[in-house]
Amino acid sequence: MDYQSILENIYREIKPFEKEGRQASYIPALANVNPDQFGVFLSTLSGEEYSLGNYDTKFSIQSISKVFSLAICLSVMEQDELWTRIGKEPSGSAFNSLVQLEYEHGKPRNPFINAGALVMADILISKLENPQEFYIAFLRELCGNDAVSYSPEVASSEQGCSYLNASIAYLLKHHGNLHNDVNDVLHFYCMMCSVEMSCKDLSRAFLAFARSSEPFNHAGVSLSVSKVKRINAIMQTCGFYDEAGDFSFLVGLPGKSGVGGGIVAIYPSKYSIAVWSPRLNEKGNSIMGMKALELFTTETSESIF
Ligand code: GLU
Repeated sequence: MDYQSILENIYREIKPFEKEGRQASYIPALANVNPDQFGVFLSTLSGEEYSLGNYDTKFSIQSISKVFSLAICLSVMEQDELWTRIGKEPSGSAFNSLVQLEYEHGKPRNPFINAGALVMADILISKLENPQEFYIAFLRELCGNDAVSYSPEVASSEQGCSYLNASIAYLLKHHGNLHNDVNDVLHFYCMMCSVEMSCKDLSRAFLAFARSSEPFNHAGVSLSVSKVKRINAIMQTCGFYDEAGDFSFLVGLPGKSGVGGGIVAIYPSKYSIAVWSPRLNEKGNSIMGMKALELFTTETSESIF
């Protein structure tokens, strides 16, 4: 397959949409990002790599971090134990919604909404001696880039205005689903979201999830084939907030987005692809990224469906 020409064609096709949407600004530091950037990086399990545009520019991974947290959580605890604290159904609501959490008595719908990720941050603080270092070392090994780190500026910018996430955390605490200090959990959550990676880093890192027929063993994180299958299943059903159905319908791959404008998707046993463009739609997903992936699976006829 001539993936490089396909990526170039796609870029031409999506160019007319390049001024649609705006970058996230509710986290003040993200408002400073130049919105007019687009990058894509494709890594295949057979070792080929293809790229275009700003594929090597670092950006804030934001909610893509939730996939890494889930992988670590599943390696440090039994699945049944995790699923007593977090559900595994799509939420159909915004990533930072409080409503569902209230009427479901403090059990988040899934690990990929903020409530679920706050519970995962709490678990990692309880289970790991040095959660921050463990997390960064894991990401560095996954993508093979020792320069990967978090942005103290973005982390503190988010924590300084984390009113909704703090409300979610206190509601979780009220229901006994948060064991550590709320500020410690928020601090670690914001740090994980503020990690900066490029499309190249993310695509390489997610190859480990695409390699789904083999056990996962990276930087002390060990997962059985069955656990990797479940992570990919949750990406498929819950990876795009209340747009998960549309992503599945239009793209047909498991994936995860973040409000930094990044999206990563995998084709199990075949490839991993990361796209980035900061302008978002009203659901918080990258407009150019969504379009690029829709065209990619259409023009390659490669989706899981
Ligand atoms: N750090 C962001 C927040 O909590 C993550 C949101 C996202 O990327 O979906 O609002």
